[in-house]
Amino acid sequence: MLNQLTISELTARLAKREVSSREAVQSCLDRIARVDGEIHAFISHNDADALAQADAADQLFSRGDSAGRPLLGVPVAVKDVLAVKNQPLNCGSKILGRFVSPYDATVVEKLKAAGAIVFGRLNMDEFAMGSSTENSAFGVTRNPWDTTRIPGGSSGGSAAAVAADEVMAALGSDTGGSIRQPAALCGCVGLKPTYGRVSRYGLVAFASSLDQIGPFTKDVRDAATMLGVIGGHDPRDSTSVPQPLPDYAAALTGSSPDGPILKGLKLGLPKEYLIGGLDAEVKAAVDAAVKKFQELGAEIIEISLPHTDYAVATYYIIATAEASANLARFDGIRYGARVEGADPVELYGRTRGAGFGTEVKRRIILGTYVLSSGYHDAYYLRAQKVRTLIRNDFLKAFKTVDAVVTPTSPTAAFKIGEKSDDPLQMYLSDIFTISCNLAGICGISLPCGFMKNPKLPIGLQLLGKPFGEETLLQAAHAYERGTNWHREKPPL
Ligand code: GLN
Repeated sequence: MLNQLTISELTARLAKREVSSREAVQSCLDRIARVDGEIHAFISHNDADALAQADAADQLFSRGDSAGRPLLGVPVAVKDVLAVKNQPLNCGSKILGRFVSPYDATVVEKLKAAGAIVFGRLNMDEFAMGSSTENSAFGVTRNPWDTTRIPGGSSGGSAAAVAADEVMAALGSDTGGSIRQPAALCGCVGLKPTYGRVSRYGLVAFASSLDQIGPFTKDVRDAATMLGVIGGHDPRDSTSVPQPLPDYAAALTGSSPDGPILKGLKLGLPKEYLIGGLDAEVKAAVDAAVKKFQELGAEIIEISLPHTDYAVATYYIIATAEASANLARFDGIRYGARVEGADPVELYGRTRGAGFGTEVKRRIILGTYVLSSGYHDAYYLRAQKVRTLIRNDFLKAFKTVDAVVTPTSPTAAFKIGEKSDDPLQMYLSDIFTISCNLAGICGISLPCGFMKNPKLPIGLQLLGKPFGEETLLQAAHAYERGTNWHREKPPL
């Protein structure tokens, strides 16, 4: 079935004209019709528009006009936090009402220029705040491996859609783990690029110093292809860095001239990541993965990231502070929904009271508090200092190792409702992913095994140097070829 193909498999068949983009898109739409009632990865999708885009791609193929379009005819969907011209944009929230985006995010513009069929809005925790996709105003998304469980979050719709073969690839955003953690829990590949690698123009901001956009794919090669399309400098995002964009996919040669493929690669194993809440089966899978890396020629070195313990607390000060400022714009005047009031202040209060969900309100209150006069220095300023220490831990480690290996999440997917009354437990599920955003480095999650009963995916995380995506992708690709966990399909 075409919907099960990876990007590289599909593009090869499209190029030979063995299949059409219309057939590929139709196959995904059929799959969505069959399974998305249960999974609910999509908030909405416009089938007629997707098929029209596919027909346009097929015309380019028949005119022989496919050169320079690495994603021509490939169906891709995006998280509901990215602007796509003439499509709804809700951020998993009620507060945007019937807002329709007047323009394309840079990453969407790039996907379209590469020939992708961009369709559908993928479910997410409201404003990307959460780890389970239970905080969506549009209902929960279910894990394709066990529909009584969460898919992870906040980009749970993106992960579930790719894992359930509803689409070839998806985009999400990652502020503290929102690409890597759901990728791990759904059994796909999720890449958070270095801060500055990918333009955020057209991404609705959660925490501006932490947010990055990245791909969800079925294998590592596809992640490399997607990053090659969406990455690069953009004058419309002043935080995007004018660094040359490597040809990531071409770097995955799959062979090495002198011996084992990862010979010479130094992988760091942080001793601080052996925490109490780490599930025994997850630990065993990660230990086995480390052995596999050794077999592939990598050298494993124990390292220390001494400030790891402070990461979650630091993140929840900085992220909420920035969120409280970013979300001030949703006041019922300019965007989306409005609840009238006798005066502007009453209008703001009523609109925000009715429009935001509980978790978003909790974050705004927390963020406003840590920024308030008298507490700013004690919390916010201090958190910024600890953030520097965390970044320095990594920069120091990267003097001796090329990448760091950890679990992506301390447990596999938990049950829907299991942690929703306990924000702290929920926050702790990001313990391995948060430091990467605080440090501004890159990270990838890829499948590394399964829990036995029930069968649930386990994710392995590799963290890399700033702009070290090439190394991460090469290491991940070698591991993937040596194991093939990514070939397993959920029992849908
Ligand atoms: N789960 C984390 C949070 O709730 C991270 C979310 C994200 O990366 N967007 O903030």
